[in-house]
Amino acid sequence: MGNPHVAIFPLSGAMGHLLPLVQFVKQLCSLHGFSITLIISKWRWTSQQPAVLQLLASSGLDIRFKEIPDVIVDEDEADMKIETLISKFVLKAKPHIEDALQSLHSSSPISAFVTDFFCTDLLNVGAKLNLPTYLFFSASASLLSFMMHLPTLVSEIEVSFKDADFDVEVPGLPPIPARDLPTPIQDRSKSAFKWFVYHSSRFKEASGILINTFAELEEEAIKALSTPATPPIYPIGPLLLPESDTPDESSCLKWLDEQPPSSVLFVSFGSAGVLSREQITDLAIGLEASGHRFLWVLRGYKSGDSSSLETDISQLLPEGFESRTWDRGLVLLNWAPQVPILSHPCTGGFLSHCGWNSTLESVCHGVPMITWPLFAEQAMNKVILVKQIKVAIDLKMDQKGFVKREEVERAVRKLMEGEEGRMARKKMKELKEKAKMAVMEGGSTIKATARVAADLSASTINVM
Ligand code: UDP
Repeated sequence: MGNPHVAIFPLSGAMGHLLPLVQFVKQLCSLHGFSITLIISKWRWTSQQPAVLQLLASSGLDIRFKEIPDVIVDEDEADMKIETLISKFVLKAKPHIEDALQSLHSSSPISAFVTDFFCTDLLNVGAKLNLPTYLFFSASASLLSFMMHLPTLVSEIEVSFKDADFDVEVPGLPPIPARDLPTPIQDRSKSAFKWFVYHSSRFKEASGILINTFAELEEEAIKALSTPATPPIYPIGPLLLPESDTPDESSCLKWLDEQPPSSVLFVSFGSAGVLSREQITDLAIGLEASGHRFLWVLRGYKSGDSSSLETDISQLLPEGFESRTWDRGLVLLNWAPQVPILSHPCTGGFLSHCGWNSTLESVCHGVPMITWPLFAEQAMNKVILVKQIKVAIDLKMDQKGFVKREEVERAVRKLMEGEEGRMARKKMKELKEKAKMAVMEGGSTIKATARVAADLSASTINVM
């Protein structure tokens, strides 16, 4: 019998979903002898995707690609959020994905199909083709626990979360203020709410759910998920990008080399986070007033509901900022080599939007955080980081999400020089060790990956 052949449809337009899945694919091939076919759509690609997939193609591993025809998603509906767009895209792409699976299977039988957790309509395709279908959950076990519980919550609570002043109880999580729940479900009247609840309600149909976390990081959420109501879960993280995959186009690592150990605050809002011009000013002045060193990724600014890229840094920063901070600050307009920055001995803190990949990267390198959530489930991650795992300093925002310069200064000082920062740093160092253990022989992640590899290859005879 040949190597197990698994087909995967990633949500490749979303880097935060694609990057960890790519790492998992590499592990399945290199450690467990899998043959993988990635079914690819170029919908919403940026300049990043070809490079990521090119690296995979040249890895020497048994990985193939099958591209489906382009689909056009009607973006006319007013106020259409990404969750709605993705869901509509999947409905349009579905027949092509079914065709791709059938043609792949006829040349080399497929033992399982894996897809993204926002692609639950593909569970129908898996069922039709009698193919065990697994979901890849690129976010935290805490979010998964919340989503498993969401259909019940929605039946119990009638108001929109944005209008609620209470905390919500979720199995395995600290109480979460309703307004810190994921942004797509804040307003019940929006289509994103309906789609989010819809996907949540379908998770139980999956053959299993692969989560980018490790058992020791989210013990309580994982325990809460280990019930017969949830399909088998596999905490197979942290799935991080290797340092060699992120080139240092701006030479910021050389700049970091010249700073004192643990002295630099890294400031970044992920692949899509942008601030208003007014907010950029207050962040800049707060950073300056803190007196601490910083490395700030500032790719553009937000105006209204859209974001604009800027090529001239001085257009974005307050007047004279660069000349006043030249000896202790660096501002980048490029894509930053985030993992090498976080693993650098001179990095001492991370002011982050709390995207789950950024969170894992900070944990794995023992860097304590300041939380500045912007959208998606980032505010929920903040609550977990501050209240449950206790590795981050909370940043106070006003009702509109604005952070004043004084608050930036206070939080930076608290993290970089205060007692709370010291405790967060100590806790992060412990978690870093636990993350290392999880991926060593006999560790929890290695065992979970072996378990999922066995399950993905179990069904070798399919009736398509
Ligand atoms: N990233 C990076 N350089 C940047 C911005 C982001 O390498 O300048 C990487 C980061 O290391 C992480 C991913 O992009 O792996 C962002 O994922 P995350 O879940 O943190 O946030 P998202 O971008 O999905 O909001």
